[in-house]
Amino acid sequence: MNATSLENLRKLIRWGWVYFLYLSGLTYWARMRLAASGEVIVLTLHRVLEDAEASTTRSPSGMIVKKQTFHELLKYIGKGCEIVRLEDAFGPRQAGGKPRLAITFDDGWKDTGAIAFPLAEQYRMPIAVFVCPALVDKVSPFWPERIIGVLRAASADVRRKSQFADLCRAAGLDDPSSSHRGAQIEEEKLLSQIKNLSARKLQKLVCSAEQLAIHWGNLEAPDQFEGTLCWEELIRLHEQGVSIGSHSQNHAILTQLEESEVAAELVESKAEIERVLGRPCTLFAYPNGSWSEHVRRSVIEFGYARAFINAPGLWKRDRDQYLIPRVNLWEGSLIGPFGRFSPAVFLYSTFWRLYRQAGA
Ligand SMILES: [Zn+2]
Repeated sequence: MNATSLENLRKLIRWGWVYFLYLSGLTYWARMRLAASGEVIVLTLHRVLEDAEASTTRSPSGMIVKKQTFHELLKYIGKGCEIVRLEDAFGPRQAGGKPRLAITFDDGWKDTGAIAFPLAEQYRMPIAVFVCPALVDKVSPFWPERIIGVLRAASADVRRKSQFADLCRAAGLDDPSSSHRGAQIEEEKLLSQIKNLSARKLQKLVCSAEQLAIHWGNLEAPDQFEGTLCWEELIRLHEQGVSIGSHSQNHAILTQLEESEVAAELVESKAEIERVLGRPCTLFAYPNGSWSEHVRRSVIEFGYARAFINAPGLWKRDRDQYLIPRVNLWEGSLIGPFGRFSPAVFLYSTFWRLYRQAGA
């Protein structure tokens, strides 16, 4: 059996399992058990895009949900779940003991304001957005999209490919084109390796890669939809009830910084958000979900009330409020085999997995 048919067989078994759990009522039962516990499931999203943008974006696939899928998700959770604000997640419960969910967006992309918020508002669902003040109102300010831009420019010819591969090897990474498993896998593999570089090495690699692409002369400028919200848009969202939290000043991976740099990321971002919005900024989301005991203690020391990580789990009111788990949602954790939103898949990727993890 070759690799493709093995992959297809794996997919088939997974679909079979997901739909067996759904049709037998087991995922629904897990959902009821979690609802009875009164704990909160915090969902993380990054980008909600129109179909055309979803197919051309430089953002990694694990960050993308299509607009139609997001709309169907809201319709579904609007019926059976209670959507809570992060600031008063454990307030009095609605009648009926529905499961409690909170919806958060990381990075402050333009589409969060233009596409996701209007839909959430239509269903009267509160959302929170974690932003990096130094990266507000910028086109493609995060390194993954910049690297993908160069990688795609390199894929046009063999000479460029080998130059880019040399650059990666010099940074201690594998040759990105050696996987032979398709462009998407190649991109994901490269990004996951780059994440482990130190902050300085990472910055150096991104700069050198972009220099190289400028030298090639055809690094296309990213589309405008690959940008972040400006302050006026953030003020408007805040006035319409959106919670705005800090995601650090520059989206630096805090575990790779010196103590003084960690302090600056936490203090400056909080101060800038408070100055612009005129109210305390108490929520924090660790960039990349990366935290250490020192980083966590700094978040407490500099006056945040709650901090969120990227590992899945339940938000329990009597647990550490500075390591609140979140479930990342992307298109693949929401759609079924026919490419549409599937309650079976959503229930599986959130409620069933959390139920199993909690050992309830
Ligand atoms: Zn982020």
